[in-house]
Amino acid sequence: MPNRIQIAPETQALACEHCGRETLRVARLVTDDGHVVGQTMLCTECNQRHRER
Ligand SMILES: [Zn+2]
Repeated sequence: MPNRIQIAPETQALACEHCGRETLRVARLVTDDGHVVGQTMLCTECNQRHRER
């Protein structure tokens, strides 16, 4: 199970459909030992998480 969420700094912020701000970022799900196990979309403004399937 992923334990941490890390915003990918090299990615561009996208427009969030919930709050309308361009603060929707790609975030990586990282385990304790540093393995990236997935990614999700996370808005840093409203903290709405958009899980990609
Ligand atoms: Zn938002």
